[in-house]
Amino acid sequence: MSAALRVNRVHHPVTALGYGVRLGVWLQGCPLACAGCASQDTWDPGGGGEVPVAELAEVWRAAVRAGADGLTVTGGEPLAQPAGLAAFLRRVRAIGADCGRETDVIVYSGYELDELDETQLGALEHADVAITGRYEIAQPTELIWRGSANQRMILRTPLARRRYERYVDHRPERSPMQVAADGDAVWLIGVPRTGDLARLERRLRDQGLHLQDVSWRRQKP
Ligand code: SF4
Repeated sequence: MSAALRVNRVHHPVTALGYGVRLGVWLQGCPLACAGCASQDTWDPGGGGEVPVAELAEVWRAAVRAGADGLTVTGGEPLAQPAGLAAFLRRVRAIGADCGRETDVIVYSGYELDELDETQLGALEHADVAITGRYEIAQPTELIWRGSANQRMILRTPLARRRYERYVDHRPERSPMQVAADGDAVWLIGVPRTGDLARLERRLRDQGLHLQDVSWRRQKP
């Protein structure tokens, strides 16, 4: 059987989740259920859609040809699908080399490294940067690309150190965020700071705009 991944969404260009311009892949399914998670729409392992790894790899090839600097895989919990993720990242590496562009891979995970089994560690071997740890609502942070102060940015390769060393302790004035639209749905790309989403919702309500089915509240079945 060919490898596939359960995917919530894919977007290019992403500019709020890593170095430069990137392809973003949000994998579906997360068993960790952090209180205050902004992406509760990604929790259900049966949600989203199944995408063959070969198809996703071609999306990456097109992004690289269009000038992508890297790939960010987030979710959901990417390491809940370690075999499919490893198969995808192997192709991502091969395509990056084929296209002759220097590209980096970031993988987000709610797990800490010492919680991972061999298959999950094997998948992470293909990442330049791992951003690890649960979202902890009681530990707000201004660190770029992280949702709470306990989350670690682990630089695994020379390219990661070259591109990301300066970001490990970087605290921008505002968290980088992007807005994207898909039909009637609008979604925010990036890592909001604790309280940002509630503030946004209040401001919009003050303007007469009421958000429905937001991903930061559990939807009733
Ligand atoms: S913050 Fe991340 S690890 Fe935690 S529940 Fe949400 S998707 Fe899962």
